[in-house]
Amino acid sequence: MSVKHQPIEQEIAELRRALLEHDYCYYVLNQPVVSDAEYDAQMRRLKELEAARPDLVTSDSPTQRVSGQVVEGFARYRHKRPMMSLDNSYSIDELREWARRCEKLAEGRAFDYVAELKIDGLSIALIYARGVLARGVTRGDGAQGDVVTQNVRTIRSVPLRLRTEVGAQEIEVRGEVFLPRESFDKINRELADEGGQTFANPRNAASGTLRMHDARIVAERALDIFCYQLFFDGTDAFDTHAESLEWLAQSGFKVNQHWRRCGAIEEIVEFCNAWDEKRFKLNYDTDGIVVKVNQVGVRDLLGSTGKSPRWAIAYKFPAQQASTRLLDVLYQVGRTGAVTPVAVLEPVLLAGTTVARASMHNADEMNRLGVWRGDWVFIEKSGEIIPQVVKVITEKRTGEESEFVFPTACPECETELIKPAGEAVTRCPNPDCPAKLREGLLHFSQRRAMRIEGLGVALVQQLTAFRWQRDKQGEPLFAADGQPLKLPPLVHDAADLYLLKERRDELIALERMGAKSAGNLLEQIEASKEAGLARLLYGLGIRHVGERTAQILAQHFGELEKLRNASSEELARIYEIGEVVARSIADWFAQKQNRTLVDRLKAAGVKTDLAAAVGQPVARVFEGLQFVLTGTLPTMKREEAKAFLEARGGRVVGSVSKKTDYLIAGEEAGSKLTKAQELGIKILSEAEMVRLG
Ligand code: NAD
Repeated sequence: MSVKHQPIEQEIAELRRALLEHDYCYYVLNQPVVSDAEYDAQMRRLKELEAARPDLVTSDSPTQRVSGQVVEGFARYRHKRPMMSLDNSYSIDELREWARRCEKLAEGRAFDYVAELKIDGLSIALIYARGVLARGVTRGDGAQGDVVTQNVRTIRSVPLRLRTEVGAQEIEVRGEVFLPRESFDKINRELADEGGQTFANPRNAASGTLRMHDARIVAERALDIFCYQLFFDGTDAFDTHAESLEWLAQSGFKVNQHWRRCGAIEEIVEFCNAWDEKRFKLNYDTDGIVVKVNQVGVRDLLGSTGKSPRWAIAYKFPAQQASTRLLDVLYQVGRTGAVTPVAVLEPVLLAGTTVARASMHNADEMNRLGVWRGDWVFIEKSGEIIPQVVKVITEKRTGEESEFVFPTACPECETELIKPAGEAVTRCPNPDCPAKLREGLLHFSQRRAMRIEGLGVALVQQLTAFRWQRDKQGEPLFAADGQPLKLPPLVHDAADLYLLKERRDELIALERMGAKSAGNLLEQIEASKEAGLARLLYGLGIRHVGERTAQILAQHFGELEKLRNASSEELARIYEIGEVVARSIADWFAQKQNRTLVDRLKAAGVKTDLAAAVGQPVARVFEGLQFVLTGTLPTMKREEAKAFLEARGGRVVGSVSKKTDYLIAGEEAGSKLTKAQELGIKILSEAEMVRLG
């Protein structure tokens, strides 16, 4: 028997030891050495093993108690009601399972749920005596926490005095202290500048900040709070959770507004799915949804385990952070010549995909992170498609790691790189750098620009590479000195794409090409000539000219010739075009190579006016809506604005009436504006109209 059980016992002991060590790094040092996902995976494994062998469960196992610790140097406070953790579920099925269990335990009593965002911070108890903030206490180990009142007082959204009359009873408000994303970025930037340890995520930063001994620094760091629980004299304040939330909001506490009362589990599922996407638009981190039984009476029936209540559960979103080893760094040259260091990683699962590359932006960021070859790093996806390296786990260094030296020459063309003063980006200044050409062509042909869909990475590589000269049998030809004979690339710039139709045979001769693919490609290249000025401008890849700026420029000038001759001052006068952008555009058109490119594109038959764009499919977002135009618009003429609205399905009429949906008002708008205001009709500026369209 004992031999058979030895491995399980050993695994349990190892997991417990590892989890306790992680807890210490996380809760006391605020410097985790594994990602939350790895921690959770170890905890799940331990739970599984303990479920299989209940005789091995001990009361001090990390599965049985709230993790977290009180810290030396603070006064302690024993919570009147334990501050618990939450059980986690990682799938909708687990969530349904939890709801079924609640129903069973509720013994037929009717109840509903409240779903809230799970704010990724640390919990705090605010205790008010006679309406005045008396104490702020951390969760600690759940039974007792650290008294951090001075620090809590620096949080501006914590009321120091209640706005509601509460008499002599003690009020306890619990909530989550967190750091908004921008404050977190600022703190880490400053810490890196001072050569200090940065934080892995806003949660660790918030926790580290709240337990600092200098409240002035805490105040600078701008912590914030969302409140979600309320006790009057140690008992639940109201019969339902929703009433508590409402009371909190009315009494001047900051309550996260995105909570919803849900009757059925399907509503909760819908809420969870919606927030999995929407959360990235928030300026604070959420790692899941907390679902709570709304009725206090039913909560009491459900009770709790030693660690968490049975009446609540946290549905966790797929992890956005993972730790892995950084094997090497590649330096990629982009279309503007910017050299981006890309981390080559030991593949790791992150938010459902295997990740082997992560961005590090630029040399400054590499320095800030202080990465060495062989380091363990945290990588993170927060809504972006490309994961970022966010932190080096210096604790895991073995001495085998080696420093990186940022290249001084372009990895593609060996031209000396430049780093203009005040800019973070290192660039290759060679206008003929092959990497720039390749990236530029990919940008030019992408969907949102000229939409030449057949032109992918591999084909661009082939079109811009030297080719070997071959005889009729396809054998390579050699010069007298024995060197293979080379042919120049088929494409040197975007305009060359339009000449490919005259070199069809050479195109077909490319590897993996063939007559059919060549025909398709040429057709798409031909069709792209009609893309219109806005998409062409975007495709040219002028620095600072994104899609929207390209649209503004196209609307304003209507024709490429006018734009290319505009001075930077003239450009800067256009609404929404700043000086930097204006200068960048003027500089681009001042370069001979770019002027030649534009001439060649025109000569090849690429449309360079707005008219071409009219036929382009735009979404009919204004279908069924009636518009009135008034006043002088900043960049568009009246007919242009009318064409813009009509192309999107809108109807433009001459006078304001109750049927009008929007008034587009420019300068010196007169009676139409007054009438629209009287009728309560929505008034938009030209810029707002363009944004909606
Ligand atoms: P938890 O973060 O999974 O959930 C419980 C906490 O959620 C509550 O205590 C409360 O503070 C918070 N919360 C946020 N919004 C809430 C809301 N609307 N209503 C109620 N509560 C809300 O659990 P935990 O015990 O605080 O921390 C455990 C987790 O921390 C682990 O699952 C792991 O992800 C992470 N952790 C990581 C390491 C590591 O080394 N990486 C170590 C320890 C813990």
